[in-house]
Amino acid sequence: MADCIFCKIVNREVPAFLINESENFLSFLDIYPHAPGHSLVIPKVHYQNFQHLPKELGEEFILVVQETMSILAKALKVDSFTLGINEGKLAGQVIPHFHFHLIPRFVNDGGGSIHAVVFNTQGTSVEEIYQRIKNES
Ligand code: AMP
Ligand code: ZN
Repeated sequence: MADCIFCKIVNREVPAFLINESENFLSFLDIYPHAPGHSLVIPKVHYQNFQHLPKELGEEFILVVQETMSILAKALKVDSFTLGINEGKLAGQVIPHFHFHLIPRFVNDGGGSIHAVVFNTQGTSVEEIYQRIKNES
């Protein structure tokens, strides 16, 4: 896509600190890191988000994520990561080209776990939500 910063990185029109590359994916350092080594894995083709990523790319995607983790783990001497996707605007997705965050975690880094992202049950019970899901499926 013409105006997409990540497509520009794929096309080498914008520089990036590349870490790993496969036929269909690229990983590079996040330019505004939340931790040393904060990296992103993106597909070379512009898919809006995870839900649009073709299933056939699943295995290659996992491999590039794991390889990138290994590279970071070795270089930065870490064994813990927060891994995640801001899927959609309400979840904080700013760049509409699918990207997977790898955030290395360090001793006493002041961060939280994924449970810290949101706590908003809207007062509904798990049973109620399960019923709603089942009614629609
Ligand atoms: P998100 O909020 O999930 O859409 O995250 C987008 C991420 O892309 C942010 O963490 C940004 O710091 C990062 N980012 C934006 N522009 C660049 C760039 N040119 N190179 C590397 N990372 C970038
Ligand atoms: Zn793009």
